[in-house]
Amino acid sequence: GKTEARGSFRFFEPEMDARLQARRILERDLRDALAREAFEVYYQPIYSLGTDRICGFEALLRWDHPTRGFVSPTEFIPIAEELGLIVPLGEWVLRRACEEAARWPDGLKVAVNVSAVQFTSASLVTAVREALRRTGLPGRRLELEITESVLVANPGATTAILHSLKALGVRVSMDDFGTGYSSLSYLRSFPFDKIKIDQSFVRDLCVKDGTDFIVRAVIGLGSSLGMTTTAEGVETEAQLAHLRAEGCDEIQGYLISRPVPVSQVAEVINRWNGATRA
Ligand code: C2E
Ligand code: CA
Ligand code: CA
Ligand code: CA
Repeated sequence: GKTEARGSFRFFEPEMDARLQARRILERDLRDALAREAFEVYYQPIYSLGTDRICGFEALLRWDHPTRGFVSPTEFIPIAEELGLIVPLGEWVLRRACEEAARWPDGLKVAVNVSAVQFTSASLVTAVREALRRTGLPGRRLELEITESVLVANPGATTAILHSLKALGVRVSMDDFGTGYSSLSYLRSFPFDKIKIDQSFVRDLCVKDGTDFIVRAVIGLGSSLGMTTTAEGVETEAQLAHLRAEGCDEIQGYLISRPVPVSQVAEVINRWNGATRA
């Protein structure tokens, strides 16, 4: 009853709502999960339209919560950022992804997402260098994906860090391109190797007026600037055909494969890159 409920939550302020309590519990569970390394990395293939083969995988963090099941990274990453846990968590993903990618056929890259908060931490370059050294993964097989928010926060420091990363042979991609508000000026000022066209544009291809022209313009822009263009969230053959016709370099999405656990990576490679494919 009501009395009982009040009694069992007596450590919380009465005005604290259920959402805040749920959030407190998630914070506690997140710290605990990090201590126990209760995370897993899933991999989603990136498919080259030039070679018609898988050319790499994006590493995507998964948290299998003891009672809630899989919690979406869009839910727990912002909390990890606020709590400062994203730095150790991000370093864990980086090490794990490099370790696993080092066992894949040479030439296949691995892309790791890096939070804006990691960019303000002096240890990022050291962590990347150490991950490469310890796993033996050549720098050219590692890509780091960053969003615009990194550049907004601290453009000066970010430029220096990006150049240090590139000196290690690592490539840098601008993620979720088109969703921010000043992407164009960032493309001019920062040394990106790749533009990832946000899935919201891909979804609206052939559906919403103007989208086709925007996508065409972004692919043209990327190619003029010497950058690879990758379209995210490709789910249909029609989207694939459209992107191919426009000269997009790479696609990623459920049409090729959902993100899979590392145990299924070899199977995905064989399915798409195997000699028997018609
Ligand atoms: P993102 O970097 O844009 O990753 C792509 C997201 O789109 C992934 O969601 C992926 O599962 C999903 N996706 C891929 N193909 C399709 C498709 O065809 N249709 C649809 N509807 N979705 C597709 P996920 O794994 O839930 O990750 C969400 C976001 O969480 C990521 O967006 C990224 O911003 C963040 N994230 C994931 N792992 C990490 C990590 O290790 N570190 C950091 N800092 N962020 C991460
Ligand atoms: Ca990404
Ligand atoms: Ca993205
Ligand atoms: Ca995103």
